[in-house]
Amino acid sequence: MASSLRPAVGVSHLSLCPGTGRGKDTPVCGDEDSSARSAARPALAQCRALSVDWAGPGSPHGLYLTLQGGTDLEKHRDLLMVENERLRQEMRRCEAELQELRAKPAGPCLGCEHSQESAQLRDKLSQLQLEMAESKGMLSELNLEVQQKTDRLAEVELRLKDCLAEKAQEEERLSRRLRDSHETIASLRAQSPPVKYVIKTVEVESSKTKQALSESQARNQHLQEQVAMQRQVLKEMEQQLQSSHQLTARLRAQIAMYESELERAHGQMLEEMQSLEEDKNRAIEEAFARAQVEMKAVHENLAGVRTNLLTLQPALRTLTNDYNGLKRQVRGFPLLLQEALRSVKAEIGQAIEEVNSNNQELLRKYRRELQLRKKCHNELVRLKGNIRVIARVRPVTKEDGEGPEATNAVTFDADDDSIIHLLHKGKPVSFELDKVFSPQASQQDVFQEVQALITSCIDGFNVCIFAYGQTGAGKTYTMEGTPENPGINQRALQLLFSEVQEKASDWEYTITVSAAEIYNEVLRDLLGKEPQEKLEIRLCPDGSGQLYVPGLTEFQVQSVDDINKVFEFGHTNRTTEFTNLNEHSSRSHALLIVTVRGMDCSTGLRTTGKLNLVDLAGSERVGKSGAEGSRLREAQHINKSLSALGDVIAALRSRQGHVPFRNSKLTYLLQDSLSGDSKTLMVVQVSPVEKNTSETLYSLKFAERVRSVELGPGLRRAELGSWSSQEHLEWEPACQTPQPSARAHSAPSSGTSSRPGSIRRKLQPSA
Ligand code: ADP
Ligand code: MG
Repeated sequence: MASSLRPAVGVSHLSLCPGTGRGKDTPVCGDEDSSARSAARPALAQCRALSVDWAGPGSPHGLYLTLQGGTDLEKHRDLLMVENERLRQEMRRCEAELQELRAKPAGPCLGCEHSQESAQLRDKLSQLQLEMAESKGMLSELNLEVQQKTDRLAEVELRLKDCLAEKAQEEERLSRRLRDSHETIASLRAQSPPVKYVIKTVEVESSKTKQALSESQARNQHLQEQVAMQRQVLKEMEQQLQSSHQLTARLRAQIAMYESELERAHGQMLEEMQSLEEDKNRAIEEAFARAQVEMKAVHENLAGVRTNLLTLQPALRTLTNDYNGLKRQVRGFPLLLQEALRSVKAEIGQAIEEVNSNNQELLRKYRRELQLRKKCHNELVRLKGNIRVIARVRPVTKEDGEGPEATNAVTFDADDDSIIHLLHKGKPVSFELDKVFSPQASQQDVFQEVQALITSCIDGFNVCIFAYGQTGAGKTYTMEGTPENPGINQRALQLLFSEVQEKASDWEYTITVSAAEIYNEVLRDLLGKEPQEKLEIRLCPDGSGQLYVPGLTEFQVQSVDDINKVFEFGHTNRTTEFTNLNEHSSRSHALLIVTVRGMDCSTGLRTTGKLNLVDLAGSERVGKSGAEGSRLREAQHINKSLSALGDVIAALRSRQGHVPFRNSKLTYLLQDSLSGDSKTLMVVQVSPVEKNTSETLYSLKFAERVRSVELGPGLRRAELGSWSSQEHLEWEPACQTPQPSARAHSAPSSGTSSRPGSIRRKLQPSA
């Protein structure tokens, strides 16, 4: 029956139809099948059709199976393969062409814009080739897929064919048996009654056969279903194949596009090469023409040169001679050079030595100048006096009140600024001091007077400035001043800063500040954490004979801000310690100790200078104030220390062998800064009003007497002796005793050089 069953590719060519007819090629199918077939007809034109008809004798059903298109798929695959082969060949051709193009020389104008364009085209070409290779890959994948599907279809066809063959055989067998049975029945009908029985039996058997037939039909039905399924599969495959076709078509179109692009690129390249060739030819021609012209010129030149050469030959001979001479000279040049170098080196060495000696000379001169400056300064201070006394009269204030008591009792000499006149109890008394400042004098005026002393502190001198006078006479105003109009303390530090700044290129300085207070002969640190703590004055354990105060706080200051902070801190300490600060401060000595340590950067010499700024306690006499108890004790301490100060100053000015420093805490503390080459200034503060004339008289007497002791050693000693004892007896009986006892305790010394303070000021080479 069915000899071959092949899978159909592209269209659903397999149809399995129930039917009763036995037509071989004419399928008797439902409308669906016939329409499907008619739709597939054009594709089937070249395919072999396969029909299987089966109907058993007496069977109610007919089976019609048409399998078409096995060859269709094959053919299609073959077509694709052929197409593929053609494309491959075409690609090979393109590649060969490309190789050929590549092999062609790049042309004379490498790097020009044509070659760039050509490179671009080449890039494009390689891109196209890449794309083509991709397409090829896709095509081969599709081919593989088609192959796989063809194989599967062939398998399905084989299985179907087997099934159909089996079925046909079964049907034939059954129909044969049915025919036999019918014949047997007919013959038996013609026979005798016993035969009828047989017929009956046969009929019974016949029904069995029918049953077998129906079973077969059921199986047939099952097979039909399977075939329908296979048809469905085929349909899907056909669809896939169709999409493959479309893809192939697209790829082909792409390939064609690439080819056309390749062609275009090739054409462009050819055109460019042609134009390049033309350019090259043109350039060659131009160059040739130019070369010809140049050649002609060269020829002409050559002729000129030849004639020149003939005339130059004698000159050349001279030059050769010169050259030989120079050569000989050059040969001798290294020797000459060495000689010159040696002499230059020697000259440089000499110059350096000269400069060095000059430098040494300058340094020596500088040091001499420095010494001279110091000497001059010392001389100036000596001329002015190592201990100077000035007076400052404060203006009348509203605190002085009104009335006769507040009238002015002080006048000045218009021609001499060292004279002051006081009208005391109707009698005029005059005093001569180193300088007298009237109430109109400003803080700056007063500072101007003390400025030289403060500067000498930078040079390593110890300086003491005291403000002396009765309470309310303006001591604190002169020393501290007001925030808007600062006094000596702040101005001194500002001056030190600016002086130190000026010398910063040669000197390194540090400035430190301490603040202390002496009240009732007790020394306290105003900048310490515990201001109420008593401090002691001790001899340095190093045997230098210097004094120091263990525990006294020292602040390093670098700016006016720092000073203000230190002052504020000291002030706060004092305020918290004493409820009535004004009263307290008038009964205590306030000391601001500024230490300036310097080092000469060029010589390494070190100096230390100390500036002691002392706001003394009020000098008013106790007898006048009529105090008792603690107030009396305070006054006794104050008078004792002020007398001791007067004694010390007097002893120093008269260059006495013994200076009673130990008679009070104040003089003991300031021993270093009062002795030796130290400089002292006493500012005697004066109240101008009538009611204070007796205290003013006392203060001025104190001042003049301190000053007058310098007139001559003999006179000095005599005057001092009488003044000291008289004043002490007159002011304060309690102060009579200390002087002799202190004198007894102090070791006698001869001359100023043996005083401990003199060691401090001397320049010391750094370690
Ligand atoms: P002391 O410290 O001697 O007790 P103060 O310095 O406190 O005296 O001065 C008493 C008052 O006189 C203060 O109000 C102060 O401002 C004022 N005073 C002192 N001297 C001057 C002066 N030269 N110019 C203006 N006012 C002054
Ligand atoms: Mg005061």
